[in-house]
Amino acid sequence: MSIQIHNVWKQYGTFQALQEINLEIPKGELVALLGPSGSGKTTLLRIIAGLEQADQGSILFDGEDLTHTHVKNRQVGFVFQHYALFKHMNVFENVAFGLKVRKKKLRPSPAEIEEKVLELLRLVKMDGFAARYPAQLSGGQRQRVALARALAVEPKILLLDEPFGALDAKVRKELRRWLRKLHDEFHITSVFVTHDQEEALDVADRIVVMNEGHIEQMGTPEDVYDNPASPFVYDFLGNVNLFHGRVHKGKLNLGSIELEAPEHTHVSDTDAIAYVRPHQLSIERTKQSEDAIQARVTYIHAVGPVVYIELQRLGTGEYLEAEVGKEQFAQLHVRAGEVVYVRPKEVKVFVPEDFVI
Ligand code: ATP
Repeated sequence: MSIQIHNVWKQYGTFQALQEINLEIPKGELVALLGPSGSGKTTLLRIIAGLEQADQGSILFDGEDLTHTHVKNRQVGFVFQHYALFKHMNVFENVAFGLKVRKKKLRPSPAEIEEKVLELLRLVKMDGFAARYPAQLSGGQRQRVALARALAVEPKILLLDEPFGALDAKVRKELRRWLRKLHDEFHITSVFVTHDQEEALDVADRIVVMNEGHIEQMGTPEDVYDNPASPFVYDFLGNVNLFHGRVHKGKLNLGSIELEAPEHTHVSDTDAIAYVRPHQLSIERTKQSEDAIQARVTYIHAVGPVVYIELQRLGTGEYLEAEVGKEQFAQLHVRAGEVVYVRPKEVKVFVPEDFVI
């Protein structure tokens, strides 16, 4: 089922929680609502679910306006952060619950319910746990049961609010795989809320980046990571180095160096900030060209395949962060305390008007 959100606004008292939200989610997509705390992700998810009413705007599923349809009749399944399993029911009963409470006409027979529940438990590799109670499960196991329970009623849309938020990094990763697998197998449309960029980049077909109640950008993970539409998105989606300078007719002047800023050919003599990801900073031990930035290596973190190098610019004292592969680091052979030459390989230049929301 596709989801269309048209011009949704929501206010709590005088606080504008959502403004002008327009979003089209095609059938079968797995979409992440990503943003910092308080950006309106949960509010939007609850409005899609029908747990909350928008002040203005409409929600359509497959073109049908459901803005005023009760949550019970929207065919949505939920998974929340705090495992909303029923404590007094075992795993089997939890997964069966949504089917057992159906109206008699729509309720499957006990044998059909059993078959379905056991199949779902097999899918989430919890088939040996049917008789256990939630208190006897790990956090990750509980969320797998919660996923199975949400899917038992064959929802057309699956909504997840920070489903893995309370779990440790390794379990989170494993559960992401589960979510992706179940989403694909069940051919549903899923929307999940997260404030974790890695999670969104890793699992979603499309990411909706939210900030202060509005959508900053939506696109594939590659789109939003490689072509951030605003300084906020750039900053939110990964580590970044900032270089302050001035831009004039497509050239960015950073004092000691000049770089191309082709997106600003019509700008004349304006303040600008160049955003550079740590892996886009090249480091040389000897001066290769006139225009390089001198910096002192202050710290090296060489655990794992990527080596993080922290540097301090000579003159300005600003801190920079670079990332290089292990092999490249071995060739480079720099040590803490050494002065090196840094050059941005790729920059994204923003001018003051890009910072206005
Ligand atoms: P988090 O990641 O912290 O859950 P979020 O992006 O999901 O944040 P929301 O829960 O949608 O944010 O909240 C958006 C804003 O609306 C917040 O500032 C929050 O305090 C406010 N808000 C949410 N629900 C209510 C409510 N029922 N009454 C008043 N303010 C609310």
